[in-house]
Amino acid sequence: MLHYISSSPLRPRFLLLPSPPSNLRFLTMSASPSSSSSRSVRGAAVSVPSLGADEACAVADEAFRRYTSPSLLRRGGVGVAVVWFRNDLRVIDNEALLRAWAASEAVLPVYCVDPRVFAGSTHYFGFPKKGALRAQFLIECLGDLKQSLRKKGLDLLVRHGKPEEILPSIAKAVSAHTIYAHKETCSEELLVERLVSKGLEQVQIAQGGASVPKRPLNPRLQLIWGATMYHIDDLPFPVSSLPDVYTQFRKAVESKCSVRNCAKLPTSLGPPPSSSIDEIGGWGTVPTLESLGPSVTKSEKGMHFIGGESAALGRVHEYFWKKDQLKDYKVTRNGMLGPDYSTKFSPWLASGSLSPRYICEEVKRYEKQRVANDSTYWVLFELIWRDYFRFLSAKYGNAIFHLGGPRKVVSKWSQDQALFESWRDGRTGYPLIDANMRELSATGYMSNRGRQIVCSFLVRDMGVDWRMGAEWFETCLLDYDPASNYGNWTYGAGVGNDPREDRYFSIPKQAKSYDPEGEYVAYWLPELRSLAKERRNFPGASYIRQVVPLKFDGGNQRKDQQFNRQRRPNNVYIRQVK
Ligand SMILES: Cc1cc2nc3c(=O)[nH]c(=O)nc-3n(C[C@H](O)[C@H](O)[C@H](O)COP(=O)(O)OP(=O)(O)OC[C@H]3O[C@@H](n4cnc5c(N)ncnc54)[C@H](O)[C@@H]3O)c2cc1C
Repeated sequence: MLHYISSSPLRPRFLLLPSPPSNLRFLTMSASPSSSSSRSVRGAAVSVPSLGADEACAVADEAFRRYTSPSLLRRGGVGVAVVWFRNDLRVIDNEALLRAWAASEAVLPVYCVDPRVFAGSTHYFGFPKKGALRAQFLIECLGDLKQSLRKKGLDLLVRHGKPEEILPSIAKAVSAHTIYAHKETCSEELLVERLVSKGLEQVQIAQGGASVPKRPLNPRLQLIWGATMYHIDDLPFPVSSLPDVYTQFRKAVESKCSVRNCAKLPTSLGPPPSSSIDEIGGWGTVPTLESLGPSVTKSEKGMHFIGGESAALGRVHEYFWKKDQLKDYKVTRNGMLGPDYSTKFSPWLASGSLSPRYICEEVKRYEKQRVANDSTYWVLFELIWRDYFRFLSAKYGNAIFHLGGPRKVVSKWSQDQALFESWRDGRTGYPLIDANMRELSATGYMSNRGRQIVCSFLVRDMGVDWRMGAEWFETCLLDYDPASNYGNWTYGAGVGNDPREDRYFSIPKQAKSYDPEGEYVAYWLPELRSLAKERRNFPGASYIRQVVPLKFDGGNQRKDQQFNRQRRPNNVYIRQVK
């Protein structure tokens, strides 16, 4: 099948001709009405969070109450301000929204369903840019955002099309003086920011009444930093001098900066602009998955994440307060099965439905009210990793997407299609790899442990181009975030700026440490359930034949690095010459 090729001028163009797995675009999960981690271990799908509707509503309302401060906030602005929602689909701690409110008399929130993002292809290998599960998750985020904005006296204007075409015409129609949005760091998003700015230069807004006419103005794009726990302006160094070692970065920010407080909300964010909404075609509707293209095949296993800020607040409440899991996070975080071994905050963080500063404040509150220990700290430690990758993407730009990574490492990679497909579809003959890849396809999620193992296998055991793996993750992950995804993949591939260059994850060792009874593999590969527990990860001839030998097997280095190429000669990868 021939895929659309990205038109970005910033990265070279390649074309791959894969036979896409049938479940690729069209997956979703059935939610179970009530659930627990033990149920998910046994089989049924489990919702994350698993709160009932009333409880979820109460939790979200309570969080909104805590983050509303009628007295502290002043509104001194004039005219209309637009808020362009991007990867910040939340109301709590949304500085772009708050700044727009403070600088105007009326606010218009807008979301653009960009066809390049919802229907485009990944850059080198032409996989779908957004798999159906992430599209569904985002649709839920938009629906929830619309509801929350309505409760605060606003609404969400939804338009299908490119932001650089939609926003200037909306700004013109409502005479907006400013468009507020959150700043991004990666090239595709930066390009859109530039195009929107350029488009706004063509728009002129009249100022003042008829009696005091002033020179017309161009609306401007005001970009605000808001994706990280530590604010970029508070770093003790410019991003261009960011330390290349995580520990140095972490120690510097921990000792020299503090995390800013979450922005508080006024009681009402309204009104929206009074007359002009009908003139521009009304508020529009949040798209359905079907209207974006995909049909749906249901999976009845694994986790079903519910999109939206309300669900995110519910998950924080559930994991920290209701289930009291935070105090054990450091001990459980390397698990693979069930919803509660780790926070599962990542899908909401990636869509911006959850602010990392909100998590930080909840950790501090928990530490005061319950317990402060290594585990409570470790969630912040992991969020600093997330910050670090975001700042690295600002420092290194497109180098994080390049084969040689930020260090420009030169090495040979295979683009063997058959090997890649066996990895992608969970048919490698290694249960631990296959189970993780099937979980990814079925749910859009994989544990951090699993991600490191499948990355190491693709890169080190198969010798396959790491970007194929990264782009497949880009398609599938609910929590896909370019900085974290490509940052982690460059580390895993040994091309990131990581001092530990050879991150080899031995499958037998990982299986014995993290799935000693084969519960995880038997959950995703039911054919292994009948085997003795200790054999499930090592089923021998009773399972699919292994597609490659391991590079290191019990400490002995593989002699046969040509194995892949000899067995899989037909590489259908084609470089497209411009
Ligand atoms: C190859 C590979 C690709 C990855 N791609 C992504 C991605 O696209 N998006 C993404 O959010 N994470 C990515 N990660 C990081 C990590 O696996 C996920 O953030 C984590 O598994 C999400 O589950 P959780 O929320 O329960 O994490 P927890 O263990 O509960 O951690 C709390 C939060 O800390 C952050 N965090 C934890 N570990 C990392 C890390 N290594 N890098 C960056 N942030 C981290 C996440 O925001 C996470 O939600 C990737 C890791 C690997 C090895």
